[in-house]
Amino acid sequence: KIIVTGATGQLGNLVIQHLLKKIPASQIIAVVRNLEKAAALAALGIEVRLADYNVPESLHNAFRLGTKLLFISSSESDDTLRVVQHANVVKAARDQKMQHIAYTSFAFAEDNPFARVHLATENAIHTTRIPYTFLRNGGYTEFFINSSLKTVIENGTILTNTNNRKVNSVSRSDLALAAATVLIEEGHENKTYNLVSNTPWSFDDLAEILSEISGKSVIHQSVSYEEEKSLLVQAGLPKSAAETTAFIYRTIAEGQMERTTDDLQQLIGFQTPIKELVEKALQ
Ligand code: NDP
Repeated sequence: KIIVTGATGQLGNLVIQHLLKKIPASQIIAVVRNLEKAAALAALGIEVRLADYNVPESLHNAFRLGTKLLFISSSESDDTLRVVQHANVVKAARDQKMQHIAYTSFAFAEDNPFARVHLATENAIHTTRIPYTFLRNGGYTEFFINSSLKTVIENGTILTNTNNRKVNSVSRSDLALAAATVLIEEGHENKTYNLVSNTPWSFDDLAEILSEISGKSVIHQSVSYEEEKSLLVQAGLPKSAAETTAFIYRTIAEGQMERTTDDLQQLIGFQTPIKELVEKALQ
């Protein structure tokens, strides 16, 4: 049986949809911390088990009779707590003699100071000696390409402090398919995949796509980090969200999202084009 944690989350839900195209619901166990949120999964015939990353016994019970585990990293924002949560998951997987752990890490984790928890988790998984697959996911394209683009079209401008550097982001659905693939196919044991786009895009590219789709002129203009933050706050974003966005844009400006690999393309055979994701976001 394949166990999926974080199954009520956005990525987990998509993984389950991809799994169901290949295997029956009876082979999937969804591990969730909120049963009500999992009603739709149960309705599909998937066994739902309750566990919290903070509660070791709950994980121990939830992982009974599992053979493969897709461990979706926690959304906890306190990294010190997150490290403990992840250690709890890894220990429970070891104690329940899981035969394969696929873990959603972060792209190029060893070179990214913000991915220390992921690197620590990869190391914890190594200590179990259980065959692993590290799915080092790139940034989600949905962070940039979402319904807020409707306002961009109305305004005719998109302002960022990315300095028009490239973004190697990937859609959640493509990452979910990659995860489902390593769970179903043979041959992904003890592999590390950096799942980033092999055709990164820039905000100038995005403006061009928006112009094409809307038939209106949309341009991308560069602003400073401070300007970006205040523009986002003026547009109604809470201060912390504005800071996060401007910070991510700054990492793009530093060229930190330009690195490419072909791992995703090789794993799933395609990558959803940015234009298609923009069209979907505008629907
Ligand atoms: P979501 O926030 O949609 O899902 C996170 C999942 O983790 C949810 O199902 C949540 O449960 C579950 N979870 C959180 N805390 C616990 C806990 N204590 N015990 C059990 N389950 C818990 O995120 P996504 O699905 O979009 O992304 C998956 C993960 O990827 C994130 O959790 C995060 O680690 C990482 N991430 C990656 C990004 C990227 O750009 N690559 C960006 C942001 C996050 P519930 O449904 O009950 O909330």
